[in-house]
Amino acid sequence: MKWPPDFFARLVAWQRQHGRFGLPWQCTRDPYRVWLSEIMLQQTQVVTVLGYYQRFLERFPTVDALAHAPSDDVMALWSGLGYYSRARNLHACAQQVVERWGGRFPATAAQLVTLPGIGPSTAAAIAAFCFGERISIMDGNVKRVLSRLLAFDGDLANAQQERSLNALAQNLLPEAPSHDDMVAYTQGLMDLGASLCAKSRPQCLVCPVQALCLAHHQQATAHFPVKTKKLARKTVAWWWCVLRASNGAVWLQKRPNRGIWAGLFSVPVFESLDELKAQLSVLPGGGCALTEHPTVRHSLTHRDLVLHPVEVQLDERSKAVWDGAHPNAGLWVRDTSDLTMGLPAPLKAWLQQALGPGFSA
Ligand code: SF4
Repeated sequence: MKWPPDFFARLVAWQRQHGRFGLPWQCTRDPYRVWLSEIMLQQTQVVTVLGYYQRFLERFPTVDALAHAPSDDVMALWSGLGYYSRARNLHACAQQVVERWGGRFPATAAQLVTLPGIGPSTAAAIAAFCFGERISIMDGNVKRVLSRLLAFDGDLANAQQERSLNALAQNLLPEAPSHDDMVAYTQGLMDLGASLCAKSRPQCLVCPVQALCLAHHQQATAHFPVKTKKLARKTVAWWWCVLRASNGAVWLQKRPNRGIWAGLFSVPVFESLDELKAQLSVLPGGGCALTEHPTVRHSLTHRDLVLHPVEVQLDERSKAVWDGAHPNAGLWVRDTSDLTMGLPAPLKAWLQQALGPGFSA
């Protein structure tokens, strides 16, 4: 017998009556649209994703259009959404769908998970929503709901324990659910985790599965999920070298394809002020006048960035030497309206605030 009995049926009934229906990716079974929304929603709020989702579909209405787009266009459209490895994987995934699968997403989670940027939970979501596969998703919200429902006290920082919870989740599914029921169930798990079964103070009294929930019965909802491993945060200090030409234009160059803000455009970055000055010392007469601006702080998943913008005024001779030493390595931008390429959000904001809209004569 399935345990707890009725969980699937209760959740499906609740989702149909009380779940979320108004989001654009909920009205479709098109794998391209579901995949796009799932990738964008990783670590990003729904309200932020809505505009990006719309703009992506207008610019790249099909997986084929995305696959054939220049990567700079994809990065530019993703700019501001953060976690840029998602955008690079998105593009690579679209290309593989076209090359390996003839432009159609494969229909099973086992096949989907072989594509770049698609993890087991995203693969399960696409397979359940679009193809009705009998498979349980396992994102952060869902792990919380299920670990409370089953009073699962294995440490989810341990991959073996996570696999055990996944196996139990799979056992909550009926033998042969309909496609419609799999859609409602999968969405119901997400909706319950995003609403009533919140991290703190879950609203158990109005929860559709309260009668089945072991954590609620044990009055121990705060104890679940168990996850001991903390993210090791690190502080990184960078010096932004904001090179200005005599007409006010700012130099931007592409970052390497690995590491923080990989593949985006940026001002040159140094790990110390001395390193920055050493780089400039080769310019005529030291090249330039330096102005240090107030520090900018920005948080990434595992890093706290402390950014020190240093404005460097180049005279004509220094600029000529710089350009000669960096052929085809970057570009001079003259106005905030030129900032259409993929740029890290804090740099774009700083350029707009510190330099003003038309920063070049
Ligand atoms: Fe979550 Fe409470 Fe519902 Fe259990 S009863 S699933 S803890 S909201």
